[in-house]
Amino acid sequence: MATQPLQEIFPELTILSIPLRNNFRGINFREVAIFKGTHGWSEFSPFLEYDVDEAKTWLNASLEAANNPWPEQHHKKIPINATLPAVAPKEVKAILQGYPGCKTVKIKVDDFENGALLVEAALEQLPDAKIRLDVNGGWDQLSAISNLLEYHLRFGSIFEYVEQPCQSISELAAIKAESPVPIAVDESIRKNLSSEFYQLKEVADIAILKWQPLGGFASAHKIANTIGLPVVISSALETGIGISHGLALAASFKDMDFACGLGTVSLFESDICEPAVVAKDGFIEVARREPAGLDKYRASAERVQWWNDRIVKILEVK
Ligand SMILES: [Mg+2]
Repeated sequence: MATQPLQEIFPELTILSIPLRNNFRGINFREVAIFKGTHGWSEFSPFLEYDVDEAKTWLNASLEAANNPWPEQHHKKIPINATLPAVAPKEVKAILQGYPGCKTVKIKVDDFENGALLVEAALEQLPDAKIRLDVNGGWDQLSAISNLLEYHLRFGSIFEYVEQPCQSISELAAIKAESPVPIAVDESIRKNLSSEFYQLKEVADIAILKWQPLGGFASAHKIANTIGLPVVISSALETGIGISHGLALAASFKDMDFACGLGTVSLFESDICEPAVVAKDGFIEVARREPAGLDKYRASAERVQWWNDRIVKILEVK
């Protein structure tokens, strides 16, 4: 397969580097590859540090979406949550303005106090918001339990769930037994794709699914069926092209009762799609999207070469 020219497998392959408004998971620019398959535009955008095996799963998703029809769609638009990176509280107002009409706010939390300041700042803007905390596995079991009890005492039952408070299944089980806040799993799924998932129903209440990290539509549905929990679809900080496939994944679930984390294009300086794939009145419509005006964000020749080399290496993996 790798002997085939890249442009044949990935027609109109374009590498982009898009500035972010705020530092997000340590990066200020989002580098992505986009290309056009037989069914439309797709995106391949594993983070730069991901190894070939992990990136291969993302590539499978991007090729499936480019060259196949979407799965059956049950919804025309998807409710969206705001996503708040771990910023200074004074920046919260401007960020939340990027999510007009959204009534659920997901907050990236590192330590308890910084997180509490962000919860306060979010509630100042949206007093009736439902709040989600995303810890990215950053707490140990004991601090997770005490932090969650403390959040609950301080703010009451405004928390919809806490995403991945700890990394391990055994810690999650202990937390679930004591936590006043429902538990969602994210990294337990996408960083452990070779595991069997059947335990997750015992230690969590909600499963976070992502289009690229789980390997695409068919793979995500298979995983969702195995886990057997209600799902929330979230982005991997994709452009409007990747987000369009995240929306299609969300719309392919009949029961989609939660707001989804697919409004993250508003964390970019601007989208590559026109109009931008961002929330309007709290929703985004589900539709295939095309890029427009790519020249603004074309990556350097050196970065294009890096991505080409990366893709070739992935294609060589069986
Ligand atoms: Mg998460």
